Amino acid sequence: MTKYVFVTGGVVSSLGKGIASASLGALLESRGLRVTMIKMDPYLNVDPGTMSPFQHGEVFVTEDGAETDLDLGHYERFINARMHKHNNFTTGQIYDSVLRKERRGEYLGKTVQVIPHITNEIQEFIARGARLGQPDEAEIAIVEVGGTVGDIESLPFLEAIRQLSLRLGRRNTCFLHLTLVPFISTAGELKTKPTQHSVQKLREIGIQPSALLCRADRPIPEEEKDKISLFSNVPREAVISVWDVASIYRIPRMLSEQGLDQLICDELGLSTRPCDLSVWDDLVDRLEHPATQVRIAMVGKYVDLTESYKSLTEALVHAGMHTRSRVVIEYIDSEGLEQQGTGALAGFDAILVPGGFGRRGVEGKIAAIQFAREQRIPYLGICLGMQLAVIEFARHCAGLANANSTEFEPKADQPVIALITEWKNADGRIEQRSESSDLGGTMRLGAQQCPIRQGTLAQRIYGNAVNERHRHRFEVNNTLRPAIESAGLVVSAETPHEQLAEIVELPESVHPWFVGVQFHPEFTSTPRQGHPLFISFIKAAIARSRQAVEQAVLAK
Ligand code: GLN
Repeated sequence: MTKYVFVTGGVVSSLGKGIASASLGALLESRGLRVTMIKMDPYLNVDPGTMSPFQHGEVFVTEDGAETDLDLGHYERFINARMHKHNNFTTGQIYDSVLRKERRGEYLGKTVQVIPHITNEIQEFIARGARLGQPDEAEIAIVEVGGTVGDIESLPFLEAIRQLSLRLGRRNTCFLHLTLVPFISTAGELKTKPTQHSVQKLREIGIQPSALLCRADRPIPEEEKDKISLFSNVPREAVISVWDVASIYRIPRMLSEQGLDQLICDELGLSTRPCDLSVWDDLVDRLEHPATQVRIAMVGKYVDLTESYKSLTEALVHAGMHTRSRVVIEYIDSEGLEQQGTGALAGFDAILVPGGFGRRGVEGKIAAIQFAREQRIPYLGICLGMQLAVIEFARHCAGLANANSTEFEPKADQPVIALITEWKNADGRIEQRSESSDLGGTMRLGAQQCPIRQGTLAQRIYGNAVNERHRHRFEVNNTLRPAIESAGLVVSAETPHEQLAEIVELPESVHPWFVGVQFHPEFTSTPRQGHPLFISFIKAAIARSRQAVEQAVLAK
């Protein structure tokens, strides 16, 4: 039977609950336990797929094609178990399921209510999340409750986990609460009151946390820990200090040194081997002792440049750890490039255009790609970044001066990127796009495998096949591909049935490293393994930076 660790958050959001939960997952996994993780989100959207990146940050795509919360990305980076669509659910999904049952008459004429119907449904979804995604049922499921204690919308989740712990009994469930202990500079003190209040709020609902993870900008002194323990009724050794650190990969050791994993095992009556921190120590060592440094320009829309590219920035950091280099990512606003030209891109060792949606800033990204191609700067284009690389090449090298994507110009006369339905029956005439009112799940989503062409850079990176996750609607238009390919852009991988371009590249004779991928490789990069594409990209950036140094020396 699965045992559960429920993780709630107090005081404010964005304290790193996902990373703390994932770190605990890593510790328990290294003790030999079969761990899975579940994230419950209190909002009414069915999934985050339709939410703006500004609202929600990155949408993480699972192997089985679910659009999920970015915390699932943290889980996959910290633990070995893979996440699937049932590892994340929202209030929207719970209500959707309950209302469908109600329409089918499954509640036999009863009044359908939050308690018990919504809370029962939540418990069923939790059990389902713990079952799936594992060869067998997980021994421990860490369940993270989104939102903050005290929010109206997360109440049904808290009620559901309270009921679940009552049903499963002692030693089968425990609660962890993450709170903020702010430092008030005018008083020169760490303040424990918000933590006291947030634990009180939890206890009002009937939940007594077994341990507190106290976030602060600095380690919490013993005196404050005593106070927190006294007021929150949590044993002194279960008040754990989690301070700001330069790398998230330091968190497993920080938690373990304060006994968190042992405490959870004791609470749940599990005796295991001790945890092994050597992987994390090695990663932190690589991060902290780089042999070289590279600067990468990441060109995107200003608003979605940080939280919305969580997996991507992590993938670059992982590649840095595996090449012993410090990867400095600088965000360049593509609209700025439109107005001021590409001067801002001078001096970078590599350029990256990530995924994105909508026409704003697109011409600036195309200008950045042209700059990378002409200046022979290593270039990686991901999803939209690959589509724009095809447009740039078509316009400037293949004589298709009006090349565009129908995403930005629905009536483009040279639609080198378009929906399959637009180019499939193409006889030169573009079919009018059907205005679907349902945007959820209409994309190519999830992992898909395809073969790679021999003798290409892609083959040297990936081997003979690639299996990566997708999240996009538009595709390279096969009716216009011959013109582009004969001008020298190589399609190094395509899907076996529909021949959809998956990877494009420039031959080595023309450019040292220029690759565009239709999929999102960042979702499968982990700190332990790194990722071959990002490692190769960073190696190309290192080579470029060495070259720049040599040239500077020669110039003297
Ligand atoms: N907007 C493009 C499409 O839908 C690219 C999407 C992406 O970059 N994830 O195909």
